[in-house]
Amino acid sequence: MKITIFGSGYVGLVTGACFAEVGNEVMCVDIDENKINRLLNGEIPIYEPGLDTIVSENLREGRLKFTTSITDGVDFGLYQFIAVGTPPDEDGSADLSHVLSVAESIGRNMEDYRIVINKSTVPVGTADLVRETIRTVLEERGRAIDFDVVSNPEFLKEGDAVDDFMKPDRIIVGVDNPRTKELLRNLYAPFNRSHERFIAMDIRSAELTKYAANAMLATKISFMNEIANIAERAGADVEAVRRGIGSDSRIGFSFIYPGVGYGGSCFPKDVRALERTSRKLGYNSRILQAVEAVNDDQKLSLVSKIRDHFDGDLKGRVIAMWGLAFKPNTDDMREAPSRKVMEELWKAGAIVRAYDPVAMDEARRIYGDRPDLVLVEHPDEALKGADALTIMTEWMVFRSPDFELIRNSLKEPVIFDGRNIYNPDMVEQVGISYYSIGRRPRL
Ligand code: NAD
Repeated sequence: MKITIFGSGYVGLVTGACFAEVGNEVMCVDIDENKINRLLNGEIPIYEPGLDTIVSENLREGRLKFTTSITDGVDFGLYQFIAVGTPPDEDGSADLSHVLSVAESIGRNMEDYRIVINKSTVPVGTADLVRETIRTVLEERGRAIDFDVVSNPEFLKEGDAVDDFMKPDRIIVGVDNPRTKELLRNLYAPFNRSHERFIAMDIRSAELTKYAANAMLATKISFMNEIANIAERAGADVEAVRRGIGSDSRIGFSFIYPGVGYGGSCFPKDVRALERTSRKLGYNSRILQAVEAVNDDQKLSLVSKIRDHFDGDLKGRVIAMWGLAFKPNTDDMREAPSRKVMEELWKAGAIVRAYDPVAMDEARRIYGDRPDLVLVEHPDEALKGADALTIMTEWMVFRSPDFELIRNSLKEPVIFDGRNIYNPDMVEQVGISYYSIGRRPRL
């Protein structure tokens, strides 16, 4: 099958590569010339395990093409995927300008039937806007060409994106006629073999499903962070509570880890966008507002602990930071808690010595050269001359460190663990003060 994907970011590139991997012909279109040139040279602009192999193989086999030509893209695929960004606009609603600009390009250039599939995360009703945009442009051109619009939200996780796409938990498709349902079912058949994962529904429900899923996961995290804050004040250990409630199969263990808050390109913006949608619809969503507010505060909770430990004076203090990405196995730092923590530390006059296994270039890109950020090439190097160590991302490589080396390297042996990855007794035995989330401080 011939497939065009607009947008070669995390979602578009993975989608394109995975469709090519199962034998389709795929053309990926992006307006970012630099990104397309890098991809044409076999360079992957993002860190995503396993993606480089399938991109380079399919590029070599000629099943995967990259271009900046919108017209070539519209001409190429019967299936036209929209996988461009939907960043928050000034009031937190999803900015649909990229999505609608692709819709307009499709309307302007299509010569025969196309099925337009929206994979970007978009508010309820966007498929109608996409349809209206294409119809208006076709009318301007004086052409009556048939087309369909489908909602097909994406659920892949950065860090596991290729696996998630190849073996999805579910394939959600929002359609308004049986023809598109069958076209989509055929397209996804290679990823739907072992058992039925294809869930077809009306378009608005599919659009809302994506937001509901992300909002539910973010709610679990904020809920657990709230329990952690209560546990801390009550002299309880949230990790014991986590194990206690997770063992209830109705609750489960996933997404109930307390920490410094959620980040990334999806949860913060999607919770916000759903709350704004709900407000526009005349409904006051108190849960979504609380989820966001708890998360904003949670990002600051570690900074308060650092400030209190140093009697309110962080001027000139050097803070080592392990982890910059918003979660392990990605270089993505969009809305990462590390950013909020670093920015607060800088405001208080501290210097950050940071290490991350893959997000260093991203940190350089975001912050450039500044005297209060020192990026180092090894976790141990971050400790040199530092007053304290903070853990911001639970990368595997940080989980079993040489605690004696940490104690001997730090000016004052203290760890602020934003991910609860250490056993407090073990850290304490080595003679390191230990602050974590929702557990009593070990001094
Ligand atoms: P991204 O920012 O990594 O990539 C978007 C790409 O679209 C960029 O390369 C940009 O240059 C390109 N683009 C913008 N306008 C274009 C146009 N008119 N034509 C062609 N290309 C254009 O974004 P992403 O993380 O891949 O997210 C894309 C969408 O998928 C968003 O709506 C997001 O919420 C959703 N989503 C993301 C994830 C994730 O984990 N990143 C998961 C599920 C859903």
